Formats: sequence, structure tokens, C-alpha cells
Amino acid sequence: MKTPAGRECLHFHGDYYRGRNIEECRLLKQNGQDWSPDLCATCPVPDIIRANSCQFMQLKVTVSRSLFTFFQRRVQVNAFCEKTQRNVSEPQIGCGKCHDLPFNFEVKE
Ligand code: SF4
Repeated sequence: MKTPAGRECLHFHGDYYRGRNIEECRLLKQNGQDWSPDLCATCPVPDIIRANSCQFMQLKVTVSRSLFTFFQRRVQVNAFCEKTQRNVSEPQIGCGKCHDLPFNFEVKE
């Protein structure tokens, strides 16, 4: 579903049926965080999901304010791989376990 920022996001849910106007981020809700529409504009989650759809990667999100963003609320993402049981430093790429690079080719004579 499209977020208020106009991007597709798996976690956004909007209910507009018969005059209702209920919008929520189910990922933030699942992580016990409060959502507001402005968060979608800078949220990295849609880009991460588009780049890496690994079934084992779990995203944990928090909302924080930092000095560098002039105290604007932003979504921070931490990724965890359930298969390797370790944190994923580059969620767009993944942990590298399922898709090892570079490939090793063996030439048998
Ligand atoms: S805050 Fe992020 S994860 Fe939540 S609906 Fe908006 S874009 Fe999606």
C-alpha cells in the first residue's frame, strides 16, 4: 500500500472504507513505537525491502531524534538474520550467508 509519502510499503495500512480514515505502520506498532505520517518521508524501510527480500532478515525499528536531523523524528532500522543469528550491518545487501560472493568455480579434469 502507498504511504502518505507516496512510496509503496509492506507495513503501511490504511482503512478508508465508508469514510474511515485509519492509517498505521504495522512495523512500528509491532515494535511498540508511535507512528505519524511524516515518518514515512524519510523512512529507509521501503528501500531496504525493495533491495533485499530475504525471508530470514528481521527488521527492528525505533523512532529517534538526533542533533544531525535538527531533532526531527526519524525511523532507525536494525536488521537481524534469523538463519545466522547475527546482526546485519548492511540490510540492503544482507548478511551474505545465503548468497556468498564471489562464487567459487571448480574445474575438474
Ligand atoms: S514508517 Fe516506514 S515502515 Fe512504517 S509505513 Fe512508513 S515507510 Fe513503511
